[in-house]
Amino acid sequence: MAMASASQAGPDLSHYPGGEALYRLRHSAAHVLASAVVDLFPDTKVAGGPPIEGGFYYDFAREQPFTPEDLEKIETQMRKIIAEDQPFEYLEADREEALRRFGAAGEKYKVHFIGQIPEGAKVTYYRNGRFLDLCRGPHLKSTGEIKAFKLTHVAGAYWLGNERNEMLQRIYGTAFPSQAELDEHLHRIEEALKRDHRKLGRELDLFSIHDEVGAGLIHWHPKGAMVRHLIEQFWKDEHLRRGYQLVYTPHIASEKLYSISGHLENYSDLMYSPMDIDGQPYRVKPMNCPNHIMIFQTRKRSYRELPIRLAELGTVYRYERSGVLHGMDRVRGFTVDDSHLFCTREQLGAEVEGVLDLMDFLLKAFGYQYHAYLATRPKDHFLGTEEEWDFATDALRSALDRRGLAYEVDEGGGAFYAPKIDVKLKDALGREWQCPTIQVDLNLPKRFNITYVGPDGKEHIAAMVHRALFGSLERFVGIYIEHTGGEFPVWVAPVQVIVIPANPRAFDYAHDTARLLKQGGVRAEVDVRDDKLGAKIRDAELQKVPYMLVVGPREAEAGTVAPRRKGEGQLEAMSREAFLERVLEESRQRRV
Ligand SMILES: [Zn+2]
Ligand SMILES: [Zn+2]
Repeated sequence: MAMASASQAGPDLSHYPGGEALYRLRHSAAHVLASAVVDLFPDTKVAGGPPIEGGFYYDFAREQPFTPEDLEKIETQMRKIIAEDQPFEYLEADREEALRRFGAAGEKYKVHFIGQIPEGAKVTYYRNGRFLDLCRGPHLKSTGEIKAFKLTHVAGAYWLGNERNEMLQRIYGTAFPSQAELDEHLHRIEEALKRDHRKLGRELDLFSIHDEVGAGLIHWHPKGAMVRHLIEQFWKDEHLRRGYQLVYTPHIASEKLYSISGHLENYSDLMYSPMDIDGQPYRVKPMNCPNHIMIFQTRKRSYRELPIRLAELGTVYRYERSGVLHGMDRVRGFTVDDSHLFCTREQLGAEVEGVLDLMDFLLKAFGYQYHAYLATRPKDHFLGTEEEWDFATDALRSALDRRGLAYEVDEGGGAFYAPKIDVKLKDALGREWQCPTIQVDLNLPKRFNITYVGPDGKEHIAAMVHRALFGSLERFVGIYIEHTGGEFPVWVAPVQVIVIPANPRAFDYAHDTARLLKQGGVRAEVDVRDDKLGAKIRDAELQKVPYMLVVGPREAEAGTVAPRRKGEGQLEAMSREAFLERVLEESRQRRV
């Protein structure tokens, strides 16, 4: 990176997405960016900038903001530097000499970095053309090896990431080995912007967030709520089919509960402050587990009753810093598709396997591929004994193996109380999102003394599985909006069919058709607005409604409809009954 570290040791490139070659390319492009800026705007002071995932940036201090026209000029200058094929030349100097040199040039940011290098140590530079940068490499041999790059945007960035420091200007760019790869990357970025769930959430009238209410708190509008309702219904039906029992639990609880669970001690940063109720401190709940344990413990349980699988779409509230809040993706109140499975240690393996099977079923219904990670015991801070951790981790590992599910091991990545399987979904743009999590917990059962009576007539501590398969409804739906680009398949579409009267004389037939469809279980609406037909058709397109029925006197006469299927175009005219059956069938199949 064009930023020296205190140690001057080479950066670790093994984790750079795309590998070392791409790192070198983008790192070198960052140098070329900085040299072009200094060529064009000599008053600018350079701070530094590394390759990042997907590209690179460089920070500059300059009075006037860089404009889009400036970026174009800088790109042109960069092309010139690339055409000159300047070698990246390695140089060394004494720390003191480096301090003098950069100090004299007024490069205070570089002076700061050199100041961090131990006294007496060597400082390494790289030079291309006239531009000298403090750097530990590695680079390409020369600027001419940069084949395809693009500057994307400018944003403010605090010096050293500290908001008490001055604001610098960060120019972002990206570089790829070939123009084709660069074009594809830029296309993906453009597509991601088009699919941004905050934008589509507004355009499709799905949800909103309000200053008057507070940041990170989602309001589901009728259409968004319908999407959520359909997903919840699907989730509940499948859970009931698989031997889960639904429960509901309160949103607040006495602090006593969280003192037993250990949340007060280990989790209080994420919990909201207590409220006073009759002189007792209460909290809004950050998790559902303790409540499900309460239900389990209302009576003595026999091993014959186990496993008991309690499921709840449980709304919880957790503190997130305002800076990380993002649409539906990072919020402060959310609904976990939560379940707690209580069982014997012997049953754990089969229970985890059952959860993996259910997860597979649910995720495939939304068209997701996924990838599993086994997160094991943290190095330092963990509850319980090593024996318990080994046992719990084995239960997860063997379930993955029995299902033949490939996974990576995330060494030390477990929660402080349990190992877990984390699963990342892959969306239509190839982006990965961590949603499902499955944890085998032998600690909370001890803290709460969760027991059952075994075949030996004695009390035993139960084992427990925590699991959420969507993660939260907010996040899952946010990701799903981007995955589908708002074009929900028929089974989740809030409006499946829009009926558009071709002229006022067709109003009655339009209403009658919608009524017939609704009675048959199809979500149909009539566009009754006093607007041009063309405008109504365009709106239905923009609202991404799967089926559009434009009806006129001809259809009314024949008792038919001529459906337009989004993505397929005009279909043959058919009877209204046949159309109803077609939509229902498509909905039943949950075609993605
Ligand atoms: Zn460098
Ligand atoms: Zn839990």
